Formats: sequence, structure tokens, C-alpha cells
Amino acid sequence: MQVVSNFDRIGEENAFAVLARAGELAAEGKSIINLGIGQPDFPTPDNIVEAAVRALRDGQHGYTPAIGIPQLREAVATDLNNRYQAGVSANNIIVVPGGKVTMFAAILMFGEPGAEILYPDPGFPIYRSMIEYTGATPVPIPIREENGFAFSAAETLSLLNDKTRLVIVNSPANPCGGVTPKSEIDALVKGLTEFPDVAIMSDEIYDQMVYDDEQHVSLLGYPEIRDRLILLNGWSKTYAMTGWRMGYSLWPDALFENIRKLAVNAWSCVNAPAQFAALEALTGPQDQVTSMVAEFDARRVRVVEELNKLPGVSCIQPKGAFYAFPNITKTGWKAKALASALLEETGVATIGGPDFGIHGEGYIRISYANSTENILQAMGRINEFLENNPAPG
Ligand code: PLP
Repeated sequence: MQVVSNFDRIGEENAFAVLARAGELAAEGKSIINLGIGQPDFPTPDNIVEAAVRALRDGQHGYTPAIGIPQLREAVATDLNNRYQAGVSANNIIVVPGGKVTMFAAILMFGEPGAEILYPDPGFPIYRSMIEYTGATPVPIPIREENGFAFSAAETLSLLNDKTRLVIVNSPANPCGGVTPKSEIDALVKGLTEFPDVAIMSDEIYDQMVYDDEQHVSLLGYPEIRDRLILLNGWSKTYAMTGWRMGYSLWPDALFENIRKLAVNAWSCVNAPAQFAALEALTGPQDQVTSMVAEFDARRVRVVEELNKLPGVSCIQPKGAFYAFPNITKTGWKAKALASALLEETGVATIGGPDFGIHGEGYIRISYANSTENILQAMGRINEFLENNPAPG
């Protein structure tokens, strides 16, 4: 058989491999604390689950329009307009099976040999994987600790040239927890006016998870780029719905037919009862989102405090999402070797920074989507490990 060469270049998400290994170790009887996986440790709120059950009982078993049921697309537009005064029309919204699908589609739409696509590094690993799949050149935007893990507008703009087709930005960010301030986003948008043919994909899937005095600044707030903005968002994180596979995106008029046709070709439509659940998520009570985010906030403060007590480890306060990205260079360990040793020797699952890109060396990602009790136990195990295990020569 001869598989097309693009598949030699497709990557993956190591978080799933870590999850699988953690599962094997647990099956062998080892006590595992999973700080590796990026999903809320809360169940989907009952009212949302009930809406899906009701939809099934009501006979919502068939295909829906490929772009999503109209009332859900309207609800997404209303939600964005309420939160960001964004002037969004439901005509530009498509419902897709999960957050990832939007990046998959956007990168497929702009990636080909000779094209360049900018993406955050460290960043969500699928950006680079898909860029490489298309044969385009991946151009990493370094995400630096000294900038509080926000992206730098100047550095991003310095990477643009006449081959650039797409710029991917992500705030609040995975894996570093950085939130990019308005001043940087203003500067980025201003600079992008000199590159009117470059599309922008803003991954705002953690938009409701910001802490301290930080405000999420949506790229929806910039009418001057609306005609080339693709907005990625979804229900996975905000409503603890990772397994439902519910996402949405906003596309400019010029691209909407492309995404609609891709939907028709690839997935026909999103699971019908899940769309009714997503509708309830947006239109029903939001108190469980508020309490989940408050709980993440409390854990965030605690986990950073504990991380900073570990020998050789320092960690800045993340401002968004549910990840901390401690600097481990002073332990002497390489990041992936440390993450692997922590899992095998102590049962604590984390992800090595290089799994998120070359600029991730020297860091590990800690997801604090786990109970405070488990987090504290994990910190105790890591402390003991670091005290007794100098980095291999
Ligand atoms: N974008 C970012 C930055 C993420 O961290 C994730 C999931 O971890 C996604 C997109 C994909 O979300 P989904 O699980 O809905 O596909």
C-alpha cells in the first residue's frame, strides 16, 4: 500500500500517550495522580446532561444541518455578543465536533508547500502537527516566561513575510497559562494591517478561565480584522464537556462556504442530542461555570505556592486556563526525562514542555484540573523524588 507522504509528517498529542501509560500503571496497581490531562475534573452540569437525554427522547436522532441547528448558532452569536459586544451574526457560525476541528479546517485551508503558518511555541501540539501535514512551513512564535507567557506582538510581527498565510494565536493559553494583555493584542492587530492577505485564527477555548485582575481580550473586539478572523471556541473546557465533542467557530463570509463544504464532506453534522445539550449550556444557568472557575483559581494559587517550594523549581503565576508551567532547569533534569521519571517512579503524570514545542525545554506542564488533595499529594511525591534523585549525568 502506498499512503500519501503527508501522513509521514502528521504528529500527535503526547497527553494522550501519557494518559494511556498512566492507565497501564494504574492497572498494575500503582497509585496514579494525573496532572497530565487537559480536561476539567468536574462532571458536565446536570441541566446540560438532561437536555441531551430529553433531545434523545424527543426523537432528535437524525441529521441536522451540516452547519448546526439554527437555534444553537443563534445562541452562540448571542453569547459572543453579550460577552464581547462583538456584532457577530449567526450566519458566520458553524457548530463543529470539538475545538480541534476548527484548527484542522483552518490549517487545511491555508497550508500547502511554500506557505508559512505562524503558531505559538510552546503551544497546543496539533497546530504544528497539522501545519506539517499540509506541507506548509511551521514558523514558531516563541512564548516566553519573561513575558508572563503572553505572546509578543513585536516578535510575532517580525516573523511575517509575503509567504505567511495564517497566524495562529492562543490566549488564555495551553500549556503555559499565559493571558496576553490588550496592549499586545492592539499592537498585533495594528501591525497586521500591513499584511491584509494574512488570515488569523484565534484559539479562545479558555476564554472564560482568567484569574486575578486579568481580562480576556477577544480578537472579536477588532472590526478591522473581522473579514479574515477565524475564531475557535467550544464547550469542552467551559462546560466540562470534553467527551461530548462540541465546538464552534466563526468564519468570515469569504471562507464560510469552504468550511460548510468541508463539514458536508467530513462529518455531515454534529451529534444531534449533543447540540441540544450545548444549547442548554449557553442558555441555561451559568452558576456552575462560575463555581468551577473559582475552584480552579483557588487550586492555581495553591499549586504555584507548592511548586515554588520544590528544589530547583520556580513557577510564575499563570493567569488563565488550568495549567501551570514551572521552570525546572535548575533541577538539572531534561523536561521529558523528568516527566517520564515522575510518572514511572512516583505515579505523578505531567507533560514535558518539549511536547508543546522546542521552546518548551526546561519546563513541565502541570494541569491543576485535579482535587487540591491530589495536587498536594503529588507535590509531596515530586518533592521527595527531586530530593533523592539528582539529574542523570
Ligand atoms: N485549543 C486548545 C488551546 C486546547 O488546549 C484544546 C484542548 O486541550 C483544544 C483547542 C481542543 O479542544 P477539544 O477537546 O474541544 O477538541
